[in-house]
Formats: sequence, structure tokens, C-alpha cells
Amino acid sequence: ELRHIQKHYLRKSWPWKAQTLRAVDGVSLSIGKGKTLGLVGESGCGKSTVGQIAARLLEPSGGKLIYDGTELDGSHSMHPRKIRQRIQYVFQDPYSSLNPRFTIGRLLEEPLAIHRLGDKKERRRRVDEMLETIGLDSSFGSRYPHELSGGQRQRIGIARALMLRPEFVVLDEPVSALDVSVQAQILNLLRSLQRELSLTYLFISHDLNVVHYMSDRVAVMYLGKVVEITEVEELYDHPLHPYTEALVSSIPTDARHAKREKIILKGDLPNPLEVSSGCPFQSRCRYAFSRCEAEAPVLAQWKEGHAVSCHLYMK
Ligand code: SF4
Ligand code: MG
Repeated sequence: ELRHIQKHYLRKSWPWKAQTLRAVDGVSLSIGKGKTLGLVGESGCGKSTVGQIAARLLEPSGGKLIYDGTELDGSHSMHPRKIRQRIQYVFQDPYSSLNPRFTIGRLLEEPLAIHRLGDKKERRRRVDEMLETIGLDSSFGSRYPHELSGGQRQRIGIARALMLRPEFVVLDEPVSALDVSVQAQILNLLRSLQRELSLTYLFISHDLNVVHYMSDRVAVMYLGKVVEITEVEELYDHPLHPYTEALVSSIPTDARHAKREKIILKGDLPNPLEVSSGCPFQSRCRYAFSRCEAEAPVLAQWKEGHAVSCHLYMK
């Protein structure tokens, strides 16, 4: 569970002038055990930052992280190494995260060695077992990353994250760098691994089709904030926030939504340093009215299990 997580950076734009960049600005999320929460939004909206904070790769500037009933803070009430093992992160670009000079076997063994788990023989056995789990045979252990296809490399990226038998995995755009034909194989692998190993996922993507396929619930981010969160089918069938409405309308050909008008968002994501008061989406919103300029909306429950941050839905 993330409670009011913030990540602010001080930007010196001029020697006498400093501005605060609110990369993540008060994000609260929770993910049930064994479930997948999808996190969507345009690049630069802060979703990777949220993922890295959730995986404890990055310290938040404010807010709380609660894992399995325990608050994770600087005092390390839970042993940091134990937590490191239980939470893992899979990066978008598997190639850049794999040391090109190591064999696949060594790359997979490394997390076990770092955490001093098992002897050499036991580690080798776990590497072979993992290769089989992710659909590659043990001969891959002696190959190098450059000898692998993009899809195979991402299998290794996933395997490496799973070597420590984590419970919670943050998947940051895990298929975005892959050909569409390979994407489905990796997504299916992730789904079957989730079932077999009872994994909990935070699934980050800008691709709504992929998020739809993977998630139980979905949170939509815009400029460092969650603007809408609900069950996956509810979000796609009844989007409330004007931003979500536009995103969902751009999903190509779904028979159910054939009549849906495609909404083109005007303008680009504004510079986060130049966001004025009021609703951060106002510059692109086709429903903006006077209140949107004066007052920032807050995320609030609109109906059972469906929260949105927009003045159109203020009770
Ligand atoms: Fe649009 Fe106003 Fe809602 Fe913001 S608060 S999304 S500007 S209608
Ligand atoms: Mg990212």
C-alpha cells in the first residue's frame, strides 16, 4: 500500500530561482495479494517513479509504504535484505539491465550469490529450474545476452527478478520494447507465473490494451497524480475522468465500443514546472469550466469501488 507518496525534486532554473518539480504528488494505491494493479499514463506522468518507490529503489520525499501490514521506513523494522528479496523490479529494456559480459547462467545466479543463498551446486540447480519455468532449456545458461532475441532477453529479465522467489513484482513497461508478435507470449508467461507462484504485480504501461489484458484494477496517472482508479472492466466501459475517456476512446476496434467517438487530446503534456493552480488537466480538457481554474480537484469515491479526481463528479 502506498499512502500519499510524494517525490519532489528541486530544480534550479536560475541561480536565484528554484522550482519544485512534483514528479509524484500525493499518490495513494493499494494492491491485493495475488492481484495485478495496472498503472497507466503518458510518459513523464510519474508512473515509473511510483514503481521505483514501490520497489524501494527510490526513497519518496513524503508518504508511507506499507507492506503486508508493516510500515517500511528508514528504521527497517523489517530486515532490508528480506524486503529486497520479497519485492523485485523488471525493467522495460531487458538488454540494458543485463551485463553483456556475463553468461545467462551467471546473470541468473548472481542474485542468489549476492544474498548468499545456497552453495554453488544448489544455485546451479535453481538456475536450471528457473530456465525451465520461463520456457527456455538449460543450454541457455552458457549463452550471452547478445545471442538472444528480444523476447528471450525479457524472459531472462523476468527470470532474474524471480530468482529470489519474490512475492511482489513491479513490471515497468515489460513488453514495450518488444515486437507485437512477441508481446503476447511474454504477457501470457507473466500471467502463468503469477498463477503458479502466487505473485502480486504492479503493471506499468502506456498501452491500454496490454493493461486491460493484465490487470484486475487500473489506476490512471496524469502529471504525478492518480486521476482515476477502479476495476478494469469498469474503467474501460465507464471511464469517468475526461483524460481516461480520451485514452479509452483511442483504443482501436473493440466491437463493444464501436460507436465510441475518438477523442483527440489537444496539446501535449504540459511542462510539470509550469502547472498553474486548479486542475492539472485543464489545458487539455474539453469540459473545463470556471471552477477547474480556481480549484484543484481531489481523488474521491464517486461510486462503489470507483474513484475519480474531477469537478464534474463532485458531490
Ligand atoms: Fe476537466 Fe475540470 Fe474535470 Fe479537470 S476538473 S478534468 S478541467 S472538468
Ligand atoms: Mg517509464
